Parts: sequence; C-alpha cells; structure tokens
Amino acid sequence: MKKSLSLLLIGLLILGLVAVSGCTDKAATAGTDETESQMPVYVVGTEPYFPPFQYADENNNNEIIGFDIDLINAIAADQGFQVTWKDLGFDALIPALQSGQIDIIASGMTITEAREESVDFTNPYINAGLALAVAANNNQIQSIDDIQGKVAVVQQGSTGAAKADELKSEGVITDIIYLPHVSDIVMSIQNGRGDFMINDLPVTNAFISHNPGVIKIVDDKIQSESYGFAVRNGNTELLNMLNEGLANVQADGTYDQIMDKYF
Ligand code: GLN
Repeated sequence: MKKSLSLLLIGLLILGLVAVSGCTDKAATAGTDETESQMPVYVVGTEPYFPPFQYADENNNNEIIGFDIDLINAIAADQGFQVTWKDLGFDALIPALQSGQIDIIASGMTITEAREESVDFTNPYINAGLALAVAANNNQIQSIDDIQGKVAVVQQGSTGAAKADELKSEGVITDIIYLPHVSDIVMSIQNGRGDFMINDLPVTNAFISHNPGVIKIVDDKIQSESYGFAVRNGNTELLNMLNEGLANVQADGTYDQIMDKYF
C-alpha cells in the first residue's frame, strides 16, 4: 500500500517536471514562433538538376542549393515571407503553378512570350542565353552552320527544345531527343546517341568546368535570354513582393554576394 502510494507520488512528480519543462521551452521560443507563424508561407517549385542555379549538394545530404535558391531566400527575408521547396520536373512547373500546387517557380526559367500567356514573370534577375555544345572529340560540328542533318539533344520543355523544334521545322536538323535533365543530355552526346545539345550557356559552362574533357561549346550565343521568377497569372500581390524584394537585394549588395558565390 505504502509502496504503491510512493510510486504514484514519483509518477506525479515526473509528470509535473515534464509539464514544467514543456512550458519553459515554449516560453523561451514563443517570440520567434509567433513572428514566423504570422509570415505567409509560399511553395516554390524547382527542378534541382540545373547547377549552378539549383542542384542537390552532395556534400550536405543532397540539400537543394544554388543561385536561385539563395536569391529567393534573400527576397523572402527582405519581404517577410517563408518558403518551402518542391522538386518537380521542369515541364511540370507551369502546370503545377496553374493548379495551385506551387506559388512560385524559381528554376532558371527564361521569360518567353509563350510562357507569359500562362504565368506572370518578375523583372529579369539574370541574363543567360543558349549555347550549342558537342562531344569534346567531335571535329565535324564546329559551329551552328555544321548541324545540317544532325540529331539534337535537349531538355524537355526548355527553350533549348523550342529552338531545336524550330531548326527541325525549318528542315535543318533531322531529329530531336528530349530528355529530363541536363546530365542526361550530356550523357547522350557523350555516348553518341545525339550529335549536339542546345542548353543554357551558364549551365553548360558550369558542367564543363566541373567535368573537363567531356563536351565543348562551339557556339556560345544562339539566342539571348533572361530568367524571371513566375507566379500565377494575376497574383499581383506576390509578384510585387518578388519585384520589390529583388530590387532591394540588388541595391543592398546581397545579389552581388550570391553572384560571387556561384559564378
Ligand atoms: N532556361 C531554360 C528554359 O527556361 C532552361 C531552364 C531549366 O532547365 N531549368 O527553358
């Protein structure tokens, strides 16, 4: 009888301690919790296989890092919102934005007239462009003038793919292979399935500097382009926040720091 009473008392004491420590924890972090919980949370869609704009950091549990990631995080901090990231195929990004699955696209996406019909773009945040590359040992294709009758490899849904479509409809090239990621494209150039690739210059350059001797650029400007972040058509409130945040981080030097980090 006595024994069970003391066990009960010990039990109550433990429960009391747990409750007290729980309260203390809460009190200590209440300030931050509250400020953060009041912030809107936006879901940002990205295809994280596009270094240096967005990619998995192999040295850090495949955490998604990159120029676009840091830039969106800086804009979010400036404008007082939070973000969560969603990994999607590049060609799934616009449909996901339209269906409300995501709120923002940050994925090295080029501002094009065709896309402007389905989404609203921010002001451009970086200039890029399309480059033509071939296997490092290919001596046949030395410029865009040598692609007659050849096979292009491109990333599906990309502006590089649209350019290849144009070249095919003009009868310049015979075939196009569409693949999901830049790494797949490079592989098929390397193994000879395709003759040349069309992809974004900064990404092709980054690949070459990390993997020398695999591919080479033979034309570094088949088309000039600018990237923008995209929101749903008519989502002016979020569009304004992104544009304002972008201007602020460009003015206060944060943008330049991110630039130096990745380029
Ligand atoms: N900039 C290209 C485009 O918009 C490719 C982007 C990407 O693959 N992430 O189509």
